[in-house]
Amino acid sequence: MSSADQLQRFSFDGTNIRGEIAHLNDSYREVLARHQYPAVIARAVGELMAATALMSGSLKFAGRLTLQVRLTGSVSLLQAETNEQGQLRAIARYDEQLGDDELDFANGQLVITIEPEQGQRYQGITAIEGNHIGQALSDYFEQSEQLGSRFWLMCDGHSAAGFMLQKMPAAKEEDPDAWDRLTHLASTIKEEELLQLASEQLLHRLYHEEDVRVYPASALSFLCTCSQERIANALHQLGYEELQGIIAEQGNIAINCEFCQQLYRFEQHDVEQLFPERQQH
Ligand SMILES: [Zn+2]
Repeated sequence: MSSADQLQRFSFDGTNIRGEIAHLNDSYREVLARHQYPAVIARAVGELMAATALMSGSLKFAGRLTLQVRLTGSVSLLQAETNEQGQLRAIARYDEQLGDDELDFANGQLVITIEPEQGQRYQGITAIEGNHIGQALSDYFEQSEQLGSRFWLMCDGHSAAGFMLQKMPAAKEEDPDAWDRLTHLASTIKEEELLQLASEQLLHRLYHEEDVRVYPASALSFLCTCSQERIANALHQLGYEELQGIIAEQGNIAINCEFCQQLYRFEQHDVEQLFPERQQH
């Protein structure tokens, strides 16, 4: 039984193929505890968090990686974020009338945004073909990065996990059949195996005939990056007059963080402090 929230990197000796396994237990449940998501949304959020965790291994600098699934039906947005330390958060926006139907990914887009603390923001967009976030991610890497990549994402509403294989660029392939062989074996993973087996057990079950190299695992956790200061910056963008209007109507400004539900309250004097230039007159 796997219980630690962690990202496990591995590679296959004699090939240019590497992989990651992400297990999300507490961090996923921290997200669920803050929202009453219908089951279908809860599972999709878990899969997207697992995908984000798998990709966090490629953040080699301080910054944020965001995966968004933008849809046109009763679910409009699924979003998961991570930083380079594997600290994750996620949200979903959807119509409260949503039934227990499958999510409709038709005409959907997967948007990948990478925001280094220092340096240029990058955004890539790919159409979602089929009904799987994992397929969309594989397509994205094939199209934009020209890297063979396959993603398997699973979530049972209690835990989430992801498995990724990626073919790195190589001058010469020592084992040209490896990609087909290794991805075929990965396709046999059952949901309960990916969710419940510890990474080394799973790798042994799939690849006991291969030379698998396992690296030290890194921790994954839930963390919301909201703060009074960030909310204040967002309020500042609305402008002094607009904020005064809200205070006149409601007495103060109360904002819940969409990710973690933390309440931030701004009184009249807080709003005055947001606009120091006004106080000089
Ligand atoms: Zn928050």
